[in-house]
Amino acid sequence: MDREPAAGFRAVTDAFRWEGVAHQPYKQDGSAPFKDISRQVLFHENALGCELRYFEMDAAGYSTLERHEHAHAVMILRGQGECLLGDAVRPVKQFDLVSIPSWTWHQFRASAGEPFGFLCMVNVERDRPQLPTADDLAQLRQTPAVARFLDGR
Ligand code: MN
Repeated sequence: MDREPAAGFRAVTDAFRWEGVAHQPYKQDGSAPFKDISRQVLFHENALGCELRYFEMDAAGYSTLERHEHAHAVMILRGQGECLLGDAVRPVKQFDLVSIPSWTWHQFRASAGEPFGFLCMVNVERDRPQLPTADDLAQLRQTPAVARFLDGR
C-alpha cells in the first residue's frame, strides 16, 4: 500500500523522472535568463557535502549563463546540446563529461530539436551565481563562436 519510495531507493518512473523526487520547472517570464528548463534534486547529502541534480530542457531550452566560485561536474544523460565553457563552445552528447571550474562562464543549450538533460554535481554549501554584465557579454562576444552560441544560431 505504501507508495512512498523506500528510503535509499528511488526507481526511475518515467522518461527521466524519479520516484519521490520533485520535478521543478523553472518559473520564467520574458526576461528570464534561461528557457524551458526543469530541475530534479536526486541526492542532497550533507554527509557528502554535495548534491546531484538532473536538469532537463525542452527542444528550444537553455540554462542560465552564469559563473560562480563553486565548481560543477556534469554528465550529459539525454539528447544532444551545446556547451559554452569559458571562451569555447562544444557540441555535447549522452555520457559526455564536462568539468566546470571556478569562475568560468558556462551555459547549456539544446541543439537537436529534442529534450536535452544532464546530471550536475555541486557543493551543498555554495556561492550564488553571478550573471554577466553588459561588459562581460561584450567581452564574451569577441569570440565569434561564443557570439553565435549566445544568439542561439
Ligand atoms: Mn552553474
